[in-house]
Amino acid sequence: MKQFVAVYGAEPDGVWAAPGRVNLIGEHTDYNDGFVLPFALPHRTVVGATRLDTPQWTVWSEQADEQITFDLSTRVPGWGAYVAGVVWVLREAGFDVPGANLAITSDVPLGAGLSSSAALESAVLTALVDLGGLDLPVDQRPRLAQQAENEYAGMPCGIMDQSASIRCRAGHALFLDCRTLEVEHIPFDVASAGLAVLVIDTRAPHRHVTGEYAARRASCEEAARALGVPALRDTTLSAVADLPDEVLRRRARHIVTENQRVLDTVDLLRSGQVREIGPLMTASHGSMRDDFEITVPEVDTAVEAALSAGAYGARMTGGGFGGCVLALVDATATDQVAAAVAEAFAARGYAPPEPFVAVPSAGATRL
Ligand code: ADP
Ligand code: MG
Repeated sequence: MKQFVAVYGAEPDGVWAAPGRVNLIGEHTDYNDGFVLPFALPHRTVVGATRLDTPQWTVWSEQADEQITFDLSTRVPGWGAYVAGVVWVLREAGFDVPGANLAITSDVPLGAGLSSSAALESAVLTALVDLGGLDLPVDQRPRLAQQAENEYAGMPCGIMDQSASIRCRAGHALFLDCRTLEVEHIPFDVASAGLAVLVIDTRAPHRHVTGEYAARRASCEEAARALGVPALRDTTLSAVADLPDEVLRRRARHIVTENQRVLDTVDLLRSGQVREIGPLMTASHGSMRDDFEITVPEVDTAVEAALSAGAYGARMTGGGFGGCVLALVDATATDQVAAAVAEAFAARGYAPPEPFVAVPSAGATRL
């Protein structure tokens, strides 16, 4: 790995990689004990690592353009928290994590809602587990990576991103039950169906994300309490319709209908009906826009323009308030749909969007 050699003057003991992800459907369902269906991107974070005999970690990141060093007594701020958090969480779980020199690079866009944070945690976790020969089964890794982000980096994310980055398979989407953490790899071979998933990074500035995310979580918890269920996973549309508070009713309705859309999408994909998931994607977007109120004009514009240009379905993906849009399109129509979105953005004076075609890729691995 040339970056590792440039920083440390020798080849690393090993090189590991973990991908970013997009969520095909199932938004804000993860912290409601519900269902999600992400797939891994070809974009990934690569970590070169060499084991040290002392419990000390030196980390260089090409994207941060910075090198940091920490030991067990250091409280690391900023981007390094995602790395130090992984060391911390492994120690908390009782593992003897080896010290290491690490060099990191990534082609996952940072802060675009494609989960560069989970890619970073997952790549570092996989590297340290392998370097130390730690006995940590793959199905237990996402929870620890999530804990690193929640408890050390201080970001209250659900379990989806780390599960996707660690557990996805090429050519498949990951059907994850966020209550049991059971996974099923669902064939998602868009190319054989003559289709493609176009991802449009709207590059809309994220607005009030942390506060709005916390507010949505609080609303969901309040609605579940009012309905007398452990989580919104456990309620029904007719029960939700009786909630007296109009806002809570809409928030809860999004979660209940979105869970059902994930299940319906999985059923269609299991029987090889790829194009048919389009209307579920579009319905998911409407629900996020009208009931959950987490979209912004840029993402609504991208969805409408993609649909007008012939997409079978389109929706915002990720937590909302900016980020990316997914469109399911004919493989031959990717340029045309991307151009239509760019045109709609130009007409409204938005910064040009960044489109790319996403092929469902593999999860974290040693290279
Ligand atoms: P997303 O996960 O959607 O990309 P987040 O805000 O959750 O957005 O995470 C982005 C943050 O993760 C960055 O601001 C940075 O602190 C950290 N990060 C991700 N990838 C890298 C990297 N390759 N090098 C340094 N920091 C990174
Ligand atoms: Mg993130």
